[in-house]
Amino acid sequence: MADTYDYDLFTIGAGSGGVRASRVAAAHGARVAVAEEYRVGGTCVIRGCVPKKMLVYGAHFAEDLEDAKSFGWTIGEKRFDWATLRDHVQNDVTRLEGLYGQTLSNHDVTVFPERATITGDHQITLASGKVVTAKTILIATGARPHVPDFPGNEHAITSNEAFHLAEIPRRILIVGGGYIANEFAGIFNEFGSKVTIANRSDTILRGYDESLRDRLLQISMVKGIEFCFNAEFERVEKTAEGCLRVKLTGQEEREFDVVMLATGRVPNIEGLGLETVGVECGKRGQIVVDAYSRTNVDYIYAVGDVTDRVQLTPVAIREGQAFADSVFGPGEPYAVDHSCVPSAVFSHPPIAAVGMTEGQARNTLGSVKVYQADFRPMKNVVAGRNERSLYKMIVDAANDRIVGIHMIGPEAPEIMQAAAVAVKAGLTKADFDATVAIHPTMAEELVLFK
Ligand code: NDP
Repeated sequence: MADTYDYDLFTIGAGSGGVRASRVAAAHGARVAVAEEYRVGGTCVIRGCVPKKMLVYGAHFAEDLEDAKSFGWTIGEKRFDWATLRDHVQNDVTRLEGLYGQTLSNHDVTVFPERATITGDHQITLASGKVVTAKTILIATGARPHVPDFPGNEHAITSNEAFHLAEIPRRILIVGGGYIANEFAGIFNEFGSKVTIANRSDTILRGYDESLRDRLLQISMVKGIEFCFNAEFERVEKTAEGCLRVKLTGQEEREFDVVMLATGRVPNIEGLGLETVGVECGKRGQIVVDAYSRTNVDYIYAVGDVTDRVQLTPVAIREGQAFADSVFGPGEPYAVDHSCVPSAVFSHPPIAAVGMTEGQARNTLGSVKVYQADFRPMKNVVAGRNERSLYKMIVDAANDRIVGIHMIGPEAPEIMQAAAVAVKAGLTKADFDATVAIHPTMAEELVLFK
């Protein structure tokens, strides 16, 4: 029966999850095709994590060049050319897109560079009109920026457009208080923009440990980033001079050069033909799946942001891998463990976290011990930069097990990746104490908590 289908697997969407699933399924011997209407690589590679991190590196030079003076360096005139960085980043994105495409072709995966729609049972119709059939269909179409409804929202950009700006705005309003808002606030601020963040609630980075959020807020304000809380849009108008006149609730009307929306991401489910075959979607527009990424239709699966489980690239990759191994591999099906996922915000300075926040631990566990190191990194001391790092370790008092680690400070995400292994493995505070410090480092604070 399987031979009557054109493909064993048809994947819709060649982002992180879709590419991993397609490549691994093909390596297991499946005949695989993937459709991608935009660029192979998806959000992470094309307009997300990867180009964003390059901008973060570029932005950090603003402080590094300044700090270099305290280390004895004479720096000539400091000048930043956005077009150079923007174009280098885009060239690298194109290089990576090519590598992703090569990975697929090396595994004999057929790529259709066009939109695909499910038009019947096991049937897909491509934008060109070609109709193909597949035994299994995987939906890995990701998510897109959410654009709130308010008069003038057509004048705003999202992170998609931020990578391609003709010039760095003199004044930018970033709307939202999450990952993207704080990362781009840091980037634009270092590039010299006057940055204002406006969020609908009175907090930033909901879900992260409160002490770290407070520390980022305080450091960001010292750097000159302005915050407006409990502020929602009333309207945005374009002025005759080409500026954007913005009215937020509780605020005077103000002008900005760019308004950027960073108000969450919504799953891409439109136009996929889900209703044709009856795939169930949830309240947030996500495709509903079980632990094995199965939808309610037995031959259709979904992985990554379109399922809105944990909207992070490494999670989508794991889901794609688990799907391909489970459906096409020789072993038993297995599910991805979504617990204890480490994460980072590449703000200035960055935040990294794994496990429970202090608040979550206090609500969940009987008794909790909290260890804290609040220190000025050596490099900041020499540079005369009054910016302090904060590390927190949350321990279950009943058994000494570490249930969470939270850090804000230089290189926090790099340090966290290793520390997260220990938390995931269920190590105790005593295990950290028994480990000799590497001195002098910032990371040594993790084994010196008193
Ligand atoms: P986040 O979910 O991080 O933050 C969304 C922000 O927008 C919140 O501050 C929220 O307010 C606010 N908001 C949500 N809905 C609305 C609305 N309807 N109107 C106005 N404001 C709203 O989303 P981002 O857009 O920053 O990022 C999307 C996702 O992409 C993240 O959740 C993350 O999973 C992923 N990502 C990960 C990165 C990383 O790993 N470093 C980097 C960038 C993105 P409040 O919560 O205060 O109510």
